[in-house]
Amino acid sequence: MSQARYDVVIVGGGHAGAAAAIALRQEKFAGSIAVIGAEPELPYERPPLSKEYLAGDKPFERILIRPAAFWEERAVAMLLGTRVEAADAAAMTIRTDDGRTIGYGTLIWATGGEPRRLTCDGHHLDGLHTVRTRADVDRLLAELPDTRDVVIVGGGYIGLEAAAALTKLGKSVTLVEALDRVLARVAGEPLSRFYEAEHRAQGVRVLLGAAVQCIEGDARVSGVRLASGEVLRADMVIVGIGIIPSVAPLAKAGAVTGNGVVVDECCRTTLPDIYAIGDCAAHGNRFADGATIRLESVQNANDQASVVARTIVGREAVYDAVPWFWSNQYDLKLQTVGLASGFDQAVVRGRPEERSFSVIYLRAGRVIAIDAVNAVRDYVQGRALVLAGTQAPVEALADKTRPLKELAAERPA
Ligand code: FAD
Repeated sequence: MSQARYDVVIVGGGHAGAAAAIALRQEKFAGSIAVIGAEPELPYERPPLSKEYLAGDKPFERILIRPAAFWEERAVAMLLGTRVEAADAAAMTIRTDDGRTIGYGTLIWATGGEPRRLTCDGHHLDGLHTVRTRADVDRLLAELPDTRDVVIVGGGYIGLEAAAALTKLGKSVTLVEALDRVLARVAGEPLSRFYEAEHRAQGVRVLLGAAVQCIEGDARVSGVRLASGEVLRADMVIVGIGIIPSVAPLAKAGAVTGNGVVVDECCRTTLPDIYAIGDCAAHGNRFADGATIRLESVQNANDQASVVARTIVGREAVYDAVPWFWSNQYDLKLQTVGLASGFDQAVVRGRPEERSFSVIYLRAGRVIAIDAVNAVRDYVQGRALVLAGTQAPVEALADKTRPLKELAAERPA
């Protein structure tokens, strides 16, 4: 039997994998391309899974990244429902879970991550859910008609978005966060307190500093016992406590890994002809003060995909994009630019009570990030401040009557 071979094999049919195939064709790459994806679906957008798709406002067809015809027209082979189990950098092959060995000229690893799961007693019971894939959400939606009380574990973006969507669907939602504020890992206190208050006002019971001791129930979940002894009634538990990057086969093949697979500024791993992009790629990021980080965002997936495509066709490209992100909860649109990690000052611009304001983060007097809530203009204009690391007086940043673009023009770093 002859062994299949493609000039580029992309492992993972999510945002980054799809974007890499699209970018390669845009760069006029004429070689053969295969996307090998563990999920059975064509690449689709993940953000709606905790927003419009969960709320029932958008059908699956509308969240496909591209229709089926697009991939056929561009001669991108989609090997779906197939998991890559091993890679051999010397032989330039990968092995799939259905026993095939496939050769590659260049390998792009774009596997994202697996949701972190609870490990306490009862973690295996029916009625526990994660929100990472379409299948996850379809399982959850199928149980919703029989669900009244939902406990969400984790006060990050996914937990909060799920809380908003399920509240809108009339469910009784309790959100349990181990730290003393929601969004603690990604945002400053003013933003955390605003979202906490907003969820409470919408009827969500928000419990902070609350540790899950175990999940109670026989075959199916009936409650969540907290370390405090309180038992929260639950027909369903949604766990949103982060992901573990899916890099085991590459690590086994000899790639340097840590929190993800380590890549350079062109997204090359330490193995020859193997790149890694998206949620699984640990890269040095100048917006994190040069630290090696992973970003879990559509921006990062797309921009790294484009760097790899250009590198493969021999055009110079390095990954240096400014991070941006969004989150929709209720009628609130949060847009973030830059990375707030390591900030030493947070300036509130505008009045949170008016439900349109921004939080501007500074490190050593320079703007490093902006969270804009229903404040598109701040987000758009503030980007230049983040890019330049502008130094601006705090009073000017806080003054909503002064457009941020004026400050960018006045005081470049
Ligand atoms: P993924 O999109 O996860 O794709 C990886 C794919 O690889 C998966 O299909 C997986 O099954 C497959 N795979 C894994 N291992 C293998 C293997 N061994 N063989 C074959 N296939 C494999 N970002 C934003 O910017 N804004 C948002 O509002 C936002 N909301 C989100 C809401 C939710 C519910 C989730 C889950 C994510 C959200 N994100 C958001 C993050 C964003 O979706 C991710 O950053 C993005 O999907 C990363 O793309 P990726 O290709 O690296 O990983």
